[in-house]
Amino acid sequence: MIPYGRQEISQDDIDAVVTVLKSDFLTQGPAVEALERRIASYCDVRYAVAVSSATAGLHIAYQALGLKQGMRLWTTPNTFVATANAALYCGASVDFVDIDPFTYNMAVPALRMKLEQADKKGSLPDIVAPVHFSGQSCQLDEIKALSQQYGFLIVEDAAHCIGADFNGRKIGSCAYSNAAIFSTHPVKIITTGEGGIVTTNDEQMYQALLRLRTHGITRDPHLMQNKNEGAWYFEQVDLGYHYRITDMQCALGLSQMERLDSYVERRRALVARYNEKLAGLPIKLPYLQENCNSSWHLYVVVLKNESLSRREVFDRMRAKNIGVNVHYIPVYRHPYFHQFNYNPRNFPETEAYYNQALTLPLYPALTHEEQDYICEELAGIITGGF
Ligand SMILES: *Cc1c(COP(=O)(O)O)cnc(C)c1O
Repeated sequence: MIPYGRQEISQDDIDAVVTVLKSDFLTQGPAVEALERRIASYCDVRYAVAVSSATAGLHIAYQALGLKQGMRLWTTPNTFVATANAALYCGASVDFVDIDPFTYNMAVPALRMKLEQADKKGSLPDIVAPVHFSGQSCQLDEIKALSQQYGFLIVEDAAHCIGADFNGRKIGSCAYSNAAIFSTHPVKIITTGEGGIVTTNDEQMYQALLRLRTHGITRDPHLMQNKNEGAWYFEQVDLGYHYRITDMQCALGLSQMERLDSYVERRRALVARYNEKLAGLPIKLPYLQENCNSSWHLYVVVLKNESLSRREVFDRMRAKNIGVNVHYIPVYRHPYFHQFNYNPRNFPETEAYYNQALTLPLYPALTHEEQDYICEELAGIITGGF
C-alpha cells in the first residue's frame, strides 16, 4: 500500500541518534535545547519549547495562557481531535467555526459573524485556535484584527506546517499570535518519532511552558517562593505534567531540520505535478492563497461526481493499494462530543467538504511512477473506467 504520508530517514539521521545513545544524556541533555534554538531561529521567534507531542504542546500552551473551567475556546471542526481535546483537558468549553470552501481553514467571515453574536450574548471566546489545514496558513492578519476588537488570545495549531509562510513570515514566528504548535509525528513535515514544539515571543509564557512541561517544577531561584535551601532544592509551583521529549528524539529532529526546506520543495513539486495531471477531472483541486506558501502536509481533492460516492472512490483506490485517507471527520461528529450538543447544520461548509474530501498520498519519497499510478487510477475510477 502506498501510504498517504510517511517519514524519510537518512543515514545522517541514524548517525545523529546513535551519537546520543553513546553519550551521557538520553534525555534532558543538550539536544533538546539545540533543537529549540534551531527552530526558534528558523521561524524568527524568540522562544521554542520542545515537548512529547503537539497535543501536549497545545495543552500547556492553552494552560499557560490561563484557559480553565468556565472559559471558552473556539476552533475549526476540520481538525484532528487534539486541538479541541487539549481545551477540554483545561476544563474549558469548545465551540467551532465553519470553514472556508476553498482553503478548508476556519472562515474569517463565519468567525466575524459568530463573534458579533457572542458579543451580544456575553459569550465571547477566551482563545481562538486556528488550524493551518494541510500546511496552508489561515488569514492570520484578519484573525489578529478581530482578536484586538473582541479581546481573545490566538494559539495556532501549526501541526501541519513547519516550513510554511504567511505574508512573508514563517509560520511559528507568532507575528499574529500568542503561540504556535508544530507536530513532529512521522506523517508530518519533519519527525522526531513523537513530538511537538511550541513557539512564542512572550517571556512569561515561555517560563510557564518550561514549568508545565516538567511537573510544574522550577529550579530558578528567582521563581521560588521560599528560600533556596541548597543545591538539591527545587520547588513545584504549578500543577504540571511529564511532557518532556528525549535527546534521542531531538537529535533526530535537528538532523531532519537540515532537510526541511528541501522536503517542502519536494512536496511543492509533487503538488504541481498532481495539479497538472488531475486537471480536467470532475474534482476540486487544492486552492492556494496569494499571501501563503504551503508546506503541503496533505494533498486533498474534493470530488464533484454525482453518480459516484466518495466511499466508492475511496474503497476502489484502497483496493488498488493506494492509501487514500480522509481529513478530517468533523470533530463534533465524534460520539464523545455529542454531549455538547453541536448542530451540524451550523457548519454547512464543513459538512459539504467532509462528504466529498479525499486525501491522496503525498510525502517527499513518493516517486513519479507511484504518483502517475495514483493519478491514472483516480482518473479511471471517477470517469467511469475500470
Ligand atoms: C497531528 C495533529 C495534532 C497532534 O499532533 P501529535 O504530535 O500527534 O500530538 C494536532 N493537530 C493537528 C491539526 C494535527 O494534524
